[in-house]
Amino acid sequence: MDKSLLSKSLLGASFTLLAIGTGLLLWQPASLDSSPLSDNTPIRQSAGPIPEKAELPTSEYLQDRNQPQTLQSTTAVLQAGDSLSRTLSRLGVNNRQIAELLQSDEHQVLSSLKPGQKLTTEILTPSDDLQRLTLSETREQTHVFTKSAQGFSYQLDITPMETVLAYKEATIQSSLFVDGVRAGISEKLLAQVTDIFRWDIDFALDVRKGDRFALLYEQKMIDGEKVATGNIIAAQFVNNGRVFEAMRYQAGERTDYFTRDGLSLRRAFIRSPVDFTRVSSQFNPNRLHPIFKTTRPHQGVDYSAPINTPVQSSGDGKVSFVGEMKGYGNTVIIDHGQGYTTLYAHLNGFAENLIAGRSVAQGETIAYVGQTGWATGPHLHYEFRINGVYQNPETVDIPFDSPMTKDELVAFLPYAQKLSKRLKGSHSQDFSEYLARLER
Ligand SMILES: [Zn+2]
Repeated sequence: MDKSLLSKSLLGASFTLLAIGTGLLLWQPASLDSSPLSDNTPIRQSAGPIPEKAELPTSEYLQDRNQPQTLQSTTAVLQAGDSLSRTLSRLGVNNRQIAELLQSDEHQVLSSLKPGQKLTTEILTPSDDLQRLTLSETREQTHVFTKSAQGFSYQLDITPMETVLAYKEATIQSSLFVDGVRAGISEKLLAQVTDIFRWDIDFALDVRKGDRFALLYEQKMIDGEKVATGNIIAAQFVNNGRVFEAMRYQAGERTDYFTRDGLSLRRAFIRSPVDFTRVSSQFNPNRLHPIFKTTRPHQGVDYSAPINTPVQSSGDGKVSFVGEMKGYGNTVIIDHGQGYTTLYAHLNGFAENLIAGRSVAQGETIAYVGQTGWATGPHLHYEFRINGVYQNPETVDIPFDSPMTKDELVAFLPYAQKLSKRLKGSHSQDFSEYLARLER
């Protein structure tokens, strides 16, 4: 550092640089018109713009303010339990300016701090003057408070997020979730996988070692960094040698998953309308009744489940009966239209406001498992009828949900072809060879 007394003329502005014992240089601008700084400028910029010129001392009488001003930037990553004023204090903000911040119009965005968020101060020292406070709420959103003539002005900065298609594949050795996470797939995406294919694959029972799956999904990026994942756009799941495929598409009002031929993966009925522990009695037209010891056909399936396990309507429809039926105990019957009806018996209770004539949606809770009527233990007795004829609920051919219209299909097919190609092009060689072997 140059310790000699020197004076410089720069763009008509004259600067006096004084050497003092500590080695610090004092900057004494004779004019405010001083934006270009020489190489040995005494201002140490850590971040942000050069302080406003009007902030700089102009009078030689204000000797104590005639010190080098440095803008110091400090960042704190919030921890659980951090309070705003304590954190600001720790970051060097004085009490007067903390009060000013809390009076600003948008101060409430500072009142819901969460662990992991970043709070950054830019303070002019030694005048101890906060110039700017930023709260990075997410990678996308930053709240900025800038010192102004009237306290602090507020601005929300949005960093644009870009969405790209990303690809992942995995082979199951122990479980979908363990091997999926090991392959770098988030649990959120894995939950989407089980949701998409739940109509064809029972993920609790059917998945086996050697099953494979592949995904094309939305990857959200900011400045080239992965920040979040969105929807699965296309997926393949090979279960026990059978290949299932799903493509996300908006057909009319609904966005759903379809096969490459445009068939909805969603079915008109859920296979089993309760989360059961086991099938305690199968559909059997010639069964010996456990109580009466006579041949009595068992016209449905019994699903063993704890008392009060929710029972869902297996499809969209209208309630046609709610109440007690001899032997069946508390019972609900749903009419799904086109000749389809389902019956739910031995219920402990009904969902609130469930009355005959009301519409119910697929998956809606209509009642709770019980042991009413002639039942030897808590279970759901479930019947499935087509035009009055009892069907085996476990094996009945369940129709696909409302198919695409012809126009929708015409638009979908070329898209599906493109997506298929993209998926194929993303497969590892190993995965491609595996699929090729299955197709032979
Ligand atoms: Zn039964």
